[in-house]
Amino acid sequence: NAVRREAIKDVEAYVPPAVSFDESETPGAIFGSNVFSTIVMRQRLPKPVFKSVMATIEHGAVLDPLVADAVASAMKDWALERGATHYAHVFYPLTGLTAEKHDSFFEPVGDGSALAEFAGKTLIQGEPDASSFPNGGLRNTFEARGYTGWDVTSPAYVLENPNGNTLCIPTVFVSMTGEALDHKTPLLRSQQTMGEHAERILALFGHSKPGKIVSFCGPEQEYFLVDRHFFLARPDLLNSGRTLFGTKPPKGQEFDDHYFGAIPERVLGFMMDTERELFKLGIPAKTRHNEVAPGQFEIAPMFERGNIAADHQQLLMTTFKTIAKKHGMECLFHEKPFEGVNGSGKHVNFSLGNSDLGSLLVPGDTPHDNAQFLVFCAAVIRSVHLYGGLLRASVASASNDHRLGANEAPPAIISIFLGDQLADVFDQIAAGAATSSKGKGTMQIGVDTLPVLPTDPGDRNRTSPFAFTGNRFEFRAPGSLQTVNGPMVTINTIMADSLDYAATELETAVANGTDFDTAVQNLLTQIITEHGAVVFNGDGYGDAWPIEAEKRGLKNLRTTLDALPELISDEALALFEKYKVFNEREMHSRYEIGLEQYALTIGVEARLTLEMGATSILPAAMRYQTELAHNVAALKAAGIEPDLAPLNEVTEPLTALRAALAALSEALGEEIGHETLAEAEHARESLLPAMAAVRAASNDIECVIADDLWPLPTYQEMLYIL
Ligand code: ADP
Ligand code: MG
Repeated sequence: NAVRREAIKDVEAYVPPAVSFDESETPGAIFGSNVFSTIVMRQRLPKPVFKSVMATIEHGAVLDPLVADAVASAMKDWALERGATHYAHVFYPLTGLTAEKHDSFFEPVGDGSALAEFAGKTLIQGEPDASSFPNGGLRNTFEARGYTGWDVTSPAYVLENPNGNTLCIPTVFVSMTGEALDHKTPLLRSQQTMGEHAERILALFGHSKPGKIVSFCGPEQEYFLVDRHFFLARPDLLNSGRTLFGTKPPKGQEFDDHYFGAIPERVLGFMMDTERELFKLGIPAKTRHNEVAPGQFEIAPMFERGNIAADHQQLLMTTFKTIAKKHGMECLFHEKPFEGVNGSGKHVNFSLGNSDLGSLLVPGDTPHDNAQFLVFCAAVIRSVHLYGGLLRASVASASNDHRLGANEAPPAIISIFLGDQLADVFDQIAAGAATSSKGKGTMQIGVDTLPVLPTDPGDRNRTSPFAFTGNRFEFRAPGSLQTVNGPMVTINTIMADSLDYAATELETAVANGTDFDTAVQNLLTQIITEHGAVVFNGDGYGDAWPIEAEKRGLKNLRTTLDALPELISDEALALFEKYKVFNEREMHSRYEIGLEQYALTIGVEARLTLEMGATSILPAAMRYQTELAHNVAALKAAGIEPDLAPLNEVTEPLTALRAALAALSEALGEEIGHETLAEAEHARESLLPAMAAVRAASNDIECVIADDLWPLPTYQEMLYIL
């Protein structure tokens, strides 16, 4: 097949761009150089203005419009010095992508010249046309406008491009009525409410002015790199982000040697290049390594305040895509680009705290701090037990369905891993007032004598969806393609609920004359007794777990369509309404959009499967069949009894392929109306199985067809040639 051979030749001839660093470009020198950071503001803003902005950033004070003018002016000068010609409000619509509306700084004035203009109100608010973004029924057709509003807490930055630089301003995106059309708005709302209730707990533990508590997020991003020559020869990768055809090499490759192996030279060049760009944008790229599958890698930036980490994560993904192209590769963020090969996730590491107190999920080494830690930890346990279904729904998507529960990612059952030591402490708490600490002899339990916990848990469990890892919880179910916002909004909100609950219990007990230590002890005992069922330290991949989980009353929401209804349960609506993160309309809109995206994704894949199957795989198989038929005829003519087995081996799957394509075509043509739920159910019940049948037949053909006739770059080629 000409296309494939050309691609391989081109890959071999490809010379990646040289990656060289100027002497001046040490990480220290370039870090944040394109960011309108606190340091830049301190240098460039009049002192009162600077103070006022910092009050907004650090304490959530309302931004003064006069201050906005001064900031806008300084920001404009700074951006112009960096070659920016345009500014853009950057927002995060519910497609999961990043959207930008660009405007020029220059406005024509009467005499034919142009003047650089950037007023405070332009910084604070924008009005992009919102009609092309999903809104799940929130926006009336006559009101196509959406409004963007500056997120003062996430710094503006200059994005470099050979065709001109742009000043980018992170914003929220809302409808005329103030309802959220984006991922940032609820994140900010949820962070605020979670912080307020966390501060109540801290006050009870004697922190008189703890400072604003925020959530922290450290995302670990997995991805694949594929040479672009192969990528472009795969319409499925190009249009749907995953291979709809193709099978693992029949020999059964052992992939494990790739994990933490040496990073290929070309990939290292790519990584150095991306890290330089990330550094300029103030994104603290830190860890990088190979992942389990060949061609798979991971990057983990240092954790940051939730909303900043979320913005940075989006920016990281765009940067990776761009730089990969520059290096002749395509960066794949899909959760399952290759069937039968390990998929990609995005672990969301969560903690809460602030710069003074650090993470409140650090066990600490004094008994008193332990009690405080245990209250926060118990809040996590309660949250995950009560709202596991919501956590599952927050990571639900057509593409993540390929990964969850597939023995490489955590199961769809949401449970908590605490590690031996912590689990043991909670067992003791559940057992009552007096007990002993593992390995530390007997002790009397009042809160003051709770054991000193090690900061390093020592043991790691890779199969749990929600694992305590020493100073944070790691939510492992999010998919590589997803934003971290959804999971973070959910975690923040369910934590707000549990912290509110805990604070109220403690406040009431103390007001009723119970001594504080006893009140804490009672609260912990009660939480672990009621919610301990969610703690599971065993093997989450094992067959026994789903059965055990069911006995414990934990939900197992296997697919997106099982999980999404969680968003509109009475419980969920009440929760999000109570903490002012989403109103009922917003929740319904998100549910609708979830269904819509699910149906759209699978619809595109189904049409692609039909097209590639009919125009690429089927003709190739028929050519091979013809070749073999000629061979049979020629042998007969020569008086040799032909062996019909090879011909049969291709004819059988070919017949199956024909039938499967016909069935898929029929499924695609079915009349299902315009209800999103019906469309989504149709996608799951009819399209997915029909696609699977096409793929199975095609895989059988791939295993027998002459290699020079196979039309698509193979898994072997895509995964091993870099
Ligand atoms: P591992 O592979 O062991 O999970 P990594 O180093 O790959 O660890 O990633 C850990 C991630 O967790 C990083 O993004 C790191 O910044 C983040 N992290 C560390 N401490 C915290 C914390 N207190 N809160 C949130 N995230 C954290
Ligand atoms: Mg990791």
